[in-house]
Amino acid sequence: MYDILIVGAGPAGLTAAIYALRNNKKVAIFEGNVPGGQVVTTAFVENYPGYEKIAGPDLAYAMFDQAMKLGVELIGSYVKEIKKEKDSFLVKTFDEEEFSGKIVIIATGTKQKRLEIPSEGKFVNKGISWCAICDGSLYKGKEVAVVGGGNSALEETIYLANLASRVYLIHRRNEFRAEKHIVDAVKKLSNVEFVLDSVIEEFRGTNFLESVVVRNLKTEEVKVLPVSACFEYIGQVPATDFLKDLNILDNSGYVVVDSNYETKIQGLYACGDVIVKQVRQIVTATNDGAIAALNAIKKISE
Ligand code: NAP
Repeated sequence: MYDILIVGAGPAGLTAAIYALRNNKKVAIFEGNVPGGQVVTTAFVENYPGYEKIAGPDLAYAMFDQAMKLGVELIGSYVKEIKKEKDSFLVKTFDEEEFSGKIVIIATGTKQKRLEIPSEGKFVNKGISWCAICDGSLYKGKEVAVVGGGNSALEETIYLANLASRVYLIHRRNEFRAEKHIVDAVKKLSNVEFVLDSVIEEFRGTNFLESVVVRNLKTEEVKVLPVSACFEYIGQVPATDFLKDLNILDNSGYVVVDSNYETKIQGLYACGDVIVKQVRQIVTATNDGAIAALNAIKKISE
């Protein structure tokens, strides 16, 4: 029997683990992917206090390393189901293992949205990617595309412009959601071409991606851009498929919590990007993780 089982090893989950472990609790954390969450796939972070600029994987590793040194048990699987029992929870993984805990903290965050156009499936991992830092170096000296107009799309465009010969930034409007200083930085890059008011209609290629067909929504002009890769940064969806039966999600699939970060199921907490909230930043995820863990510790002692 664990004191606290944490699902998801991003900044929220790792912070919750650090707080719980420093309180001498027995803690396991489930992570089917690389620990660190979406920070691992972020080229650089410039708004986490204490670091003017740090590579995403370095920040993620520092958090993970701290939790490991404090003694967290890492379970390398995705969670399939959480079941409430009388005074505890049963957590089942896709590896068919079962774990019991007095408290469960959900910190699974979000995953990247897909364009969901018919030709997309054929080129997943054959040109279409959701992680510039993981796959960008495969396209050194080649032409690539980025889709989206938020902070992620613009920041990863800067990262890719250092590797690729040309980056087409394809956005469906002519205004950006991204912060102005990031947009201004992209505008200064000579090898970035803005393809605005435009959407991708088709991905083309024999075995690997060779081009994207783009339509301008204002002029109806259709262009074929010769790219070897397309990085999709069009926002996120919550990673909550495994929670559907618990009746704790809002209409968009985010977890509803009270001011203590507890769901309506006693002893089941959630924190970080996976919960209903307005600001999804690394610093707000770590904040949530600390509060959820402190409330969980209080509940155990009660
Ligand atoms: P986002 O801010 O939600 O932006 C998504 C972008 O994709 C928008 O420009 C949107 O266009 C476009 N889009 C959405 N669906 C689309 C579709 N089906 N086809 C084409 N385009 C589509 O997502 P994000 O950039 O991943 O950022 C998520 C959150 O993390 C934000 O709160 C962001 O501020 C934060 N973040 C912060 C930093 C930082 O502080 N440095 C870095 C990364 C992310 P429209 O604008 O037309 O809706």
